Amino acid sequence: MSDCIFCSIVDGEIPSHTVHEDDAVTAFLDANPLARGHTLVIPKAHHERLNDLPADLAADLFAAVHDLTDRVEAAVDAEATTVAVNNGELAGQEVPHVHVHIVPRFEGDGGRPIHALIEERPDVDDDELVDVAAAIESA
Ligand code: AMP
Repeated sequence: MSDCIFCSIVDGEIPSHTVHEDDAVTAFLDANPLARGHTLVIPKAHHERLNDLPADLAADLFAAVHDLTDRVEAAVDAEATTVAVNNGELAGQEVPHVHVHIVPRFEGDGGRPIHALIEERPDVDDDELVDVAAAIESA
């Protein structure tokens, strides 16, 4: 897509610090990193959300994420990583081209786990868990 910043990176029109490239996927350092080694992994084809990816491209994307997680940790000597997708504008997605964040985590980095995303959790009883699980299973 012509006005997509990540498509421009794929097309070489905008420079990036590329750390991986194959036929379907590329990965580069985040320009405004949350931590040293913060990497973004994207499909080369333009799709806005994870849900929009064809299954084979989703498999390629997550194969690259799987491979890169170890390499990123090794490169910056991180003990762990937070791997996350802001999937949709409401979830905080600013660039509308699917990207997986690999954020290296270090002792005392002040970062939080994914459970810190939402402060007020819903009060859900077991019947509701059953209903929601059935709805997801049959959707
Ligand atoms: P999100 O909020 O999940 O859409 O994250 C978008 C990420 O893209 C942010 O972490 C930005 O720092 C990063 N970003 C935006 N433009 C560039 C760029 N030209 N090169 C590398 N990273 C970028």
